Amino acid sequence: MELQPSEVTSILKKEIEGFETSASKESVGTVLQVGDGVARVYGLDDCMMAELLEFPGGVMGMALNLEDDNVGVVLLGDATKVKEGDTVKTTGRIISVPTGDAMVGRVVNALGQAVDGKGPIQVSDADYRPVEQDSPNVIERQPVKEPLMSGIKAIDSMIPVGRGQRELIIGDRQTGKTALIIDAIINQKKTGGGDPSNPDQVICIYVAVGQKQSTVVDVARRFEAAGAMPYTIIVNAAASDEASMQFLAPYSGTAMGEYFRDRGRHVLIAYDDLSKQAAAYRQVMLLLRRPPGREAFPGDIFNLHSRLLERAAKLADNAHELSPQKYQAGGGSLTALPVVETQEGDVSAYIPTNVISITDGQIFLEGNLFYSGVRPAVNVGISVSRVGGSAQTPAMKKVAGGLRINLAQYRELEAFAQFGSDLDKATQQALNRGARLVELLKQGQYAPLRNSHQIAAIYAGTSGSLDEVPVDKIADFETAFLEFMDDTHPELLTALDDWKAKWTDEMQSQMQAAVDEFLAQFKASL
Ligand code: ATP
Ligand code: MG
Repeated sequence: MELQPSEVTSILKKEIEGFETSASKESVGTVLQVGDGVARVYGLDDCMMAELLEFPGGVMGMALNLEDDNVGVVLLGDATKVKEGDTVKTTGRIISVPTGDAMVGRVVNALGQAVDGKGPIQVSDADYRPVEQDSPNVIERQPVKEPLMSGIKAIDSMIPVGRGQRELIIGDRQTGKTALIIDAIINQKKTGGGDPSNPDQVICIYVAVGQKQSTVVDVARRFEAAGAMPYTIIVNAAASDEASMQFLAPYSGTAMGEYFRDRGRHVLIAYDDLSKQAAAYRQVMLLLRRPPGREAFPGDIFNLHSRLLERAAKLADNAHELSPQKYQAGGGSLTALPVVETQEGDVSAYIPTNVISITDGQIFLEGNLFYSGVRPAVNVGISVSRVGGSAQTPAMKKVAGGLRINLAQYRELEAFAQFGSDLDKATQQALNRGARLVELLKQGQYAPLRNSHQIAAIYAGTSGSLDEVPVDKIADFETAFLEFMDDTHPELLTALDDWKAKWTDEMQSQMQAAVDEFLAQFKASL
């Protein structure tokens, strides 16, 4: 049967009307059982995953386990108000959080409510976004092409991260994982002067999961002191908060980041950490009687992290033309730095292997290095960035080219040298160079470096100019040399800060002359 166009429109019209009524229809169920912050509810046949449910007394819940005859719900709020036999209403809404400019500079909980004592955040209804969103599809994306500079020499030189990339930070307890993130966020001030209304300013989101309240307060203070808070949102689901909040926080933070990504802005989001989020999810799911699998995690734990990290993206320049209903502008990015904690450096445990396989590389922090004073404790041998190289600044790429291989050689020879056997000249030289490079890559906290300073310092090392400087004087050399460069070569530094700057012969000879000149002074002062 052929349909006339007018018939088609009337059918469509009916469908649309029908869709609207069915979407707003609420169904009502009954609480079968409640305890430990979860409830099982009977009679909600058309309930959606992650749908917000309304209990009596204003308590809300999130549907997390949909079974044939009942729905498992985590309660968000005062669970003691909910009793067996209470009625439960669906809302037709996936759980949503407020997003937008007003969130920036604030500390919020997993529901986006202010917890910094600076009063409620004013957000229009239109700016609420569901915490779960489809990630951009392949044609809406483009390859990573701009650097996301961390300001940390060991990272920007050897494990460069690009905007839109997912780079895992992994290591044992107390190896400096959080420290890396704090510095990377502080470093973003350089992108737009710390002013969030500047379109070049990278917006940062620090999602704290299962941490001590005092740790997060300390992070917020650090951001304040460094002028990083004005462009940062802290989403905090502390160890003392409900497991459901800890599970939710990374999704909430991502929704807040997507608001900016979809408007053409650049966002850096850190999840600190996903091990604790996974543990919270396991706890909730065990309470909901989901069958436990490997390491007692529920079977969909991989999906939990992959659907989160898939939302990191570098959007196509014309994303808004391809999908105008989703994107207001193209070219935006969301860079994700998930953190995973290992036990005794074991990267083959369940959560580490999962997240390693989902991300575009990992920065591996090692306890032994940390304790021996190599900080940041990056193990260069097993740290990688699979896509960031294409976003590394050309000058840095050139200057730091031999760094990784030099360090690898050094680590290998170091083991031999311990036996004190006679070393040939080449070996001795590689050891000399390596020891100085290791020293040069050390970096204190809260002092991320501008790109040009990193290039200058690394050039001094990789060019061999420092081979004669005693190892314990390398740090002094670096500090004084960078001051010298500030005073004598401001234009060269400004040129090298530009991320598109090539490393010209002219620049190289200028830099070499500067190193030589300063080194003569420095050696004389020793
Ligand atoms: P946790 O597993 O407890 O979350 P973590 O891996 O996040 O620990 P941090 O809290 O970042 O580690 O750092 C541990 C300690 O090491 C802190 O006291 C921090 O100040 C110190 N630290 C980290 N990085 C450096 C650095 N580059 N130089 C000096 N000290 C550092
Ligand atoms: Mg930490």
